[in-house]
Amino acid sequence: KFLSGSQIRQTFLDFYAQRGHKILPSASLVPEDPTVLLTIAGMLQFKPIFLGQRAAESPRATTSQKCIRTNDIENVGRTARHHTFFEMLGNFSFGDYFKKQAIAWAWELSTEVFGLPASNLVVSVFREDDEAFAIWRDEIGIPGDRIQRMGEDDNFWQSGPTGPCGPCSEIYYDFHPERGDNIDLEDDTRFIEFYNLVFMQYNKDAEGNLTPLQNQNIDTGLGLERMAQILQKVPNNYETDLIFPIIQSAAEIAGIDYHNSDEKVKVSLKVIGDHIRAVVHMIADEIRASNVGRGYILRRLIRRVVRHGRLIGIQGEFTVRVAESAIALSEAAYPNVRRREAQIKAELAREEAQFLKTLERGEKLLEEIVDRTKQQANQQISGQDAFTLYDTYGFPLELTQEIAEEQGITVDLDGFERAMKEQQTRAKDARQTIDLTVQGSLDKLAETIQGTEFVGYAELSSLAEVE
Ligand code: ATP
Ligand code: MG
Ligand code: MG
Ligand code: MG
Repeated sequence: KFLSGSQIRQTFLDFYAQRGHKILPSASLVPEDPTVLLTIAGMLQFKPIFLGQRAAESPRATTSQKCIRTNDIENVGRTARHHTFFEMLGNFSFGDYFKKQAIAWAWELSTEVFGLPASNLVVSVFREDDEAFAIWRDEIGIPGDRIQRMGEDDNFWQSGPTGPCGPCSEIYYDFHPERGDNIDLEDDTRFIEFYNLVFMQYNKDAEGNLTPLQNQNIDTGLGLERMAQILQKVPNNYETDLIFPIIQSAAEIAGIDYHNSDEKVKVSLKVIGDHIRAVVHMIADEIRASNVGRGYILRRLIRRVVRHGRLIGIQGEFTVRVAESAIALSEAAYPNVRRREAQIKAELAREEAQFLKTLERGEKLLEEIVDRTKQQANQQISGQDAFTLYDTYGFPLELTQEIAEEQGITVDLDGFERAMKEQQTRAKDARQTIDLTVQGSLDKLAETIQGTEFVGYAELSSLAEVE
């Protein structure tokens, strides 16, 4: 049945409130936990309880948690289901109910409340978790061939090398049951994971021995945007009512229509839709753009928005207008985005103007490079020049290529790749120093932002010069 994003959120919270869970507010995107830069899951605010460092106020809780996962940045707009910013709905048991009850409620919610047909659902369990397998098969009644056993990577949770840990069980939606019993959960043209149940039942010691915990806990996460995709029968998370209005506002500014756009333009619109939500909530949670840690993530996200705006033909400033539509969409659930509207818009306007200046200087440089190249026999922009434009001035390679093409010249792509590789080697060497300032978390970020968008630490210094 069709439910709006906010109805799905409320339905989830009400369902668990009726079953004795206390509805708690989302924690800030800035976590109290020092081991991560941003809140990446609903369980984070409860980690001290799971670790036995703090007592729970109530044995059962439920939340809608705003999350940011920068490790998924490369997937944004490319898979149907990944965002940097998303909401994770969760139900939690602190030494109270366990596996059997968690599975039964997750199933009841999915099938009876959200109305998903059992024939469209597949579940996974941890390879060795015969108990979970038996509950799904014998008590819930799922045919054995629709219960997949998975390895540790996907279905075993631990927050560190030692401490509480346990197997997971996940529920997937099958968009194409007609394709038959040959089930490959990695096939994302057919399956989408939407609900993860973590059964925290062991303590792991330094030798890797697992001993059963006195207090068994439940930690779960259901992706709001993914459930919205399923219930709203749209082809991806981006076309749900949670995000699509933002995409439409960007498309309108660009003078284009999403549905009539080619795939590349759609990706840019999705990146804008995703990242604008992320930056609106980050600034609402008092993060400021800078060159370190969270501030660096914020700055990179804003710059990616600006760049993708230009890729789809937007000239001049536009982020504040698009942010307005993101604020309007989430103010009911997260009133702080409206309360902090002035700061959000000021921060965006300032960052965008500054970056546009850098881009304009890059355009001047590109003109010089094009003129110079046209004098040369090979009519090819060197890899190093293309890389400087990319690294220092934020020019995506595609943009340089497009402009070169208009001018009847080409770009040395191999040379660009080589320059990028050298840069990455330098960045690796630079990491140790950076580690000290942000507790190593930037490490992960650098790795994940790498790929096509990573601009390296040379940019940190060159940007610092600009500012
Ligand atoms: P996937 O395998 O699809 O990357 P995951 O296994 O990494 O997801 P979990 O860590 O199990 O995800 O998080 C719990 C739930 O949160 C997922 O089942 C999904 O519904 C949602 N979720 C996770 N990552 C994202 C994301 N990047 N964007 C949107 N929703 C997400
Ligand atoms: Mg993932
Ligand atoms: Mg997964
Ligand atoms: Mg998962």
